[in-house]
Amino acid sequence: MSEPAGHGSQTVERIRRSLAARLKAAGRDGAELDARLLVGAALGLDLTGMITGAKRTLTKDEADHLERLAQRRLAGEPVARILGIKEFWGLPLHLSAATLVPRPDTETVVERALELLRADGMAERALRIADLGTGSGAILLALLSELPNAHGFGTDISAEALQTASRNAAALGLSQRTTWIECDYGSGLAGTFELIVSNPPYIPSADIAGLDIEVRAHDPRAALDGGADGLDAYRALISQSAGLLASGGFLVVEVGQGQSDDVEALMTASGLSPTGPPKADLGGIPRAVS
Ligand code: GLN
Repeated sequence: MSEPAGHGSQTVERIRRSLAARLKAAGRDGAELDARLLVGAALGLDLTGMITGAKRTLTKDEADHLERLAQRRLAGEPVARILGIKEFWGLPLHLSAATLVPRPDTETVVERALELLRADGMAERALRIADLGTGSGAILLALLSELPNAHGFGTDISAEALQTASRNAAALGLSQRTTWIECDYGSGLAGTFELIVSNPPYIPSADIAGLDIEVRAHDPRAALDGGADGLDAYRALISQSAGLLASGGFLVVEVGQGQSDDVEALMTASGLSPTGPPKADLGGIPRAVS
């Protein structure tokens, strides 16, 4: 490879380290990992390629491309948005402007749902699962990857989100076990479901302005804004779910910090009985109410 003028000292390893230092200096969390991901994306390298190619010199095009990605990150855009992809439950998921970036905390909902189904010996059954407000399809596709005979119904009011979810299902070889329906939560569903899951918008409207720039400026507002008290989506989807659950079926929803009691009360008011205390996320915050 010819030595590009002016980039003679920019090996993969060096540029990764200097990018990590710039991100850290700018106060961005996760600078080391982000630098790795951005260098990998700009150069088309996976982790192994980055190690075996560590001493390789960047071409000018590669250096320019990386610098454009670096500037976006420095301006507060999350790496998942820059790459258009985020790992959830070990699955690579494509994102679009209409989908929330899947959060690690949301894996708590998947864990809780699997615990409940497995405890009742239901995991091998031909379950019907609904994910209300599915976004990228993260929760539903994670569940289908674990439940070999289940069929998933994902709903969303955003056609663009459903396109993204459908693309993710195809990439994971799960298309035949998914149905995507454009509607508000459970309003367009018929029949009954052994499992209903949801990570609805739950941030009180007045709190949106105070969210971190990475969330406020880059996640779709429709996936965040839960109305005046943050509970609007639960009011709608819990009463709908009461009419859609098969007998012995489960409803598992993600909640924001401090919302678990209110959401349990809404479930009880709709005639659903709690299956046990909320499951906490890795930070110890009650996250999955069932
Ligand atoms: N967990 C997200 C956040 O706090 C909010 C997602 C939601 O409202 N469902 O950034």
